[in-house]
Amino acid sequence: MKIFNLKTLKDNGNIRLSVSIDSEELGSKELWFSTSEKYAYGLCKTRLDGFLVGLIFPAMQYGENIHLEGCVSNKLLFNLNHYVIPLLMTFSPSAKRIKITADETNSERFEGSGVGTGFSAGVDSFCTVFDHYVLEKNPDYKINSFLFLNVGSNGPGCTEKELTAARNKFYSRHSYLSEFPNELGLDLIPLDSNLHFFHPWGHQLTHSLTTISGALVMQNFYNKYYYASAGLLYLELFKFYEIYLNRDTAILDPILLPLLSTESLEFIPDGTQYNRLEKTIHITNYEPVRRYLNVCVGSQESHENCSVCSKCCRTLMTLDLIGKLDEYTHLFDIKKYKKKAELEYVCQQVARQHEDPFAQALVGLAKGKSIKLPSYPVSHVLIFLINFARASLPLALLSRIKTMLKLN
Ligand SMILES: [Zn+2]
Repeated sequence: MKIFNLKTLKDNGNIRLSVSIDSEELGSKELWFSTSEKYAYGLCKTRLDGFLVGLIFPAMQYGENIHLEGCVSNKLLFNLNHYVIPLLMTFSPSAKRIKITADETNSERFEGSGVGTGFSAGVDSFCTVFDHYVLEKNPDYKINSFLFLNVGSNGPGCTEKELTAARNKFYSRHSYLSEFPNELGLDLIPLDSNLHFFHPWGHQLTHSLTTISGALVMQNFYNKYYYASAGLLYLELFKFYEIYLNRDTAILDPILLPLLSTESLEFIPDGTQYNRLEKTIHITNYEPVRRYLNVCVGSQESHENCSVCSKCCRTLMTLDLIGKLDEYTHLFDIKKYKKKAELEYVCQQVARQHEDPFAQALVGLAKGKSIKLPSYPVSHVLIFLINFARASLPLALLSRIKTMLKLN
């Protein structure tokens, strides 16, 4: 794979930074990032660091060495060749060992003043904001900007239709999510891209790499960037690593992210000191969370929390167990959750408590507070009943079971 022809283009109020790619597997393609002219000062126009990190996983899947016709960070190139490639081979059995070469390397520091993180209004995101914007006393580590990327989290990008749909969702989410940064007087810098076209495996598999790729493209501005963890403790990363291998790069973050740092930009894997439950409890002490928390992964077009998807349920069960459900009635439809999702979700957590760290933590919290949950065998029976009789089991019967189990 050859990466070359780094160039910028003005495009209707935006600045677009792009490279050409020649690949045996993909043919000739273009990879680009674009932000509004207002934030063009952040774009790194002299090195290929961000493009390289964005393309390393696809090149390894295709078994193609990478040559950069241009300049790359000396530190990044060293760490990729010696450590990141073997690490990604451990993560993904289909990843091949490749070699990366470049026409030129340098160790230039861009001296940017930005301390950034992403902002999604979710639990992980708010935890990083609370700790390193609100509570952070060290000015060198205090967040002063948010970055909002279109590299896969807004939907897949394998076809033009998917790229357009993801782009529409990106702009609509950016507009919706800007309210909170505006309240703080901080920017939510939008960075559009077609990087997700090169990651047809889905966002979850490589989100750490695609996010870091975007942050590196903005390294003229950022000197530190917090990447919020996926909600597992350090010990849980070791204990449950098999669940995440070849599924979610979050398992690699504490090792991988520092290795993707350059002379200019330091990546900080943040949040692994808490599990998801502890994070949820922690952020309930931050008032804006009660107005902006958005955790939903439901498929509806609206941004609102659906109150029945897995992440809505996890959050609502936690808030219920700590007695704070009533404070979130305007962000979630509590009646809908209680009626349509709670019984099944609670039973699933009991049934999965030995193999799922999130379930284990929720069941542990209930036990610690002496809150009665269905027993392990009863949970399995109820899940069976719900799954196989959902269409015909009268809602009244489900409601009756809930009453019997005192889940209301
Ligand atoms: Zn939801």
